[in-house]
Amino acid sequence: MTRGICILGATGSIGKSTLDVVSRHPDQFRIVALTGNHRVAEMQLLCQQHHPELVVMAAPEAAQQLRMGLGDAGLKNIQVESGPEALAEAARMSGVDEVMAAIVGAAGLLPTLAAVEAGKKVYLANKECLVMAGNLFMERVRQHQVTLLPIDSEHNAVFQCFADGKGVRRILLTASGGPFRTWSAEHLAVVTPDQACAHPNWVMGRKISVDSATMMNKGLEVIEAHWLFDLPASRIDVLIHPQSIIHSMVEYVDGSVLAQLGNPDMRTPIAHALAFPERMESGVSSLDLAHGPDLQFETPDLQRFPCLALAFDALQAGGAAATVLNAANEIAVHAFLEGYLPFLRIAAVVEDTLGELQPAAPNCLDDVLAIDQLAREVALRHLARHGSGMQ
Ligand code: NAD
Ligand code: MG
Repeated sequence: MTRGICILGATGSIGKSTLDVVSRHPDQFRIVALTGNHRVAEMQLLCQQHHPELVVMAAPEAAQQLRMGLGDAGLKNIQVESGPEALAEAARMSGVDEVMAAIVGAAGLLPTLAAVEAGKKVYLANKECLVMAGNLFMERVRQHQVTLLPIDSEHNAVFQCFADGKGVRRILLTASGGPFRTWSAEHLAVVTPDQACAHPNWVMGRKISVDSATMMNKGLEVIEAHWLFDLPASRIDVLIHPQSIIHSMVEYVDGSVLAQLGNPDMRTPIAHALAFPERMESGVSSLDLAHGPDLQFETPDLQRFPCLALAFDALQAGGAAATVLNAANEIAVHAFLEGYLPFLRIAAVVEDTLGELQPAAPNCLDDVLAIDQLAREVALRHLARHGSGMQ
């Protein structure tokens, strides 16, 4: 019996790596639903290759164009829908057993929650879900007794080394340090979006690439690890490891440290999660330690990369601080990518928004969404101030 898969964010970097792995095992999987935002040509190609039953494009005009394109290509039997409710519907479909949550940002929260509430097995790449609504999200996972497996390479590595969590002293999340690890503050002041998106080890979407460059990505991952492994901030450490060969480590009270290694290719954690508790081929080449680079480690520099400190502070502050952090960061990163905000001001917008807003912990989903919205409005105001030096 094949397992029906829905990929939320199929046109993205994780979505495509997932399709690559799944395609290697046609005896095990069938693609039931794919979702995207506005990249019509890419989605049309995915439809021709994978023949899903349903496709959802978040943008209505993209759905319309895709319908026409599929009609011309003789693929009229693929249903095409659009909008947020259709995204959630794709995750809930009866033929879907498992959902890859790979939409970027807060837009992924509602469809991923829909998958959880429908009792689907969930593979979580969309870390922003847990940052903005960790408590509520994990509560629903427990309530619906859903299997949730981490795709983020660090969390997947920790999961592989964590066993039942007995005797764990701390986890060490490794971080490449991004493309600007060795750059001076003066150089950081003038970096461009293309420089920020040129990651030395990974090819990723533009938002996560900028997050890696500011190290906010590692901060989001600390919060993600807190919710996934139920550990306080004091037991989550970040270690710079520029080669991205060790994907993270777990230290036990007896001094043992278990690490997961592999070439930096997201198909490994994706295949691990898809096959768990078995193993499957991913297409990733063997790790050649003898001929590879030397493995190096260093402590993160919180002065040059203040976003990491802001995320640790938000986790420690509790309440809705992480929801505010995530929303402000999304606004600031978008503005940087569009050329309105200098790179170093991303942290300033996030810090000022966190300074202005300290809402109480959200009790329900509506609270989370209201705080997210308010934080975006406040961040936009701070953006206007910090971005005014541009052009
Ligand atoms: P990406 O930008 O390449 O792809 C994002 C996907 O989300 C696309 O399919 C896009 O169509 C969809 N999307 C964007 N905005 C949307 C909206 N408003 N509504 C509906 N769909 C929307 O991003 P990515 O690099 O694949 O990352 C996806 C998620 O996985 C992120 O949360 C990221 O942090 C996480 N992640 C990525 C990597 C990686 O190597 N790329 C590694 C670990 C975790
Ligand atoms: Mg990661």
